Amino acid sequence: MYMSEDEDLRIAGIEQESFVDGPGIRFVVFTQGCSHHCPECHNPETHAFGKGQVETADSLLKMVDANPLLSGVTLSGGDPMEQAVQLLPFVLGVKMRRLHLVVFTGYRYEMLMSKFAHPAMKELLTYTDILIDGPYLKDLRDLSLTFRGSSNQRIIDVPKSIVEGKVVLHEIQLKEMEGNLDGSFS
Ligand code: SF4
Repeated sequence: MYMSEDEDLRIAGIEQESFVDGPGIRFVVFTQGCSHHCPECHNPETHAFGKGQVETADSLLKMVDANPLLSGVTLSGGDPMEQAVQLLPFVLGVKMRRLHLVVFTGYRYEMLMSKFAHPAMKELLTYTDILIDGPYLKDLRDLSLTFRGSSNQRIIDVPKSIVEGKVVLHEIQLKEMEGNLDGSFS
């Protein structure tokens, strides 16, 4: 599992108000750098490490504070887990503000909980409310899925998963699955 050794937090971009990267209105940070290289990834410009722009936790938190309508913050990418060390000061500020945190990652939850994960990845996971996990697999591409691009990816309720010691899917995915069974979910 890869961790950026860059001293700086490098990002590919920011979306100040998004309605598609998690529940409610979200401040989204797209991190720069991803080692997964999923075929047909929609954001190949975010793969290279050492590129993008340098950001600080303070400057990101000022932008967050400027919008009282936010429901939460989303870390997307790139792979935010590969800059967990650099992201933690920002994430701590997000949690001090009692904001909800969504993290997208190409790693699976089980890998992040394993002995192979960097300690900062595990720490970031403990602050995460919803984890969208797993690589984008083009053969499993499904545009009807909430927040995900392929059906191998999961919407995980991280606090419940940590308490139960196993993956617990978030109610957003459970409702989506019920809808798929009875055809009532749109
Ligand atoms: S993990 Fe995400 S950003 Fe990285 S290659 Fe896969 S789809 Fe692209």
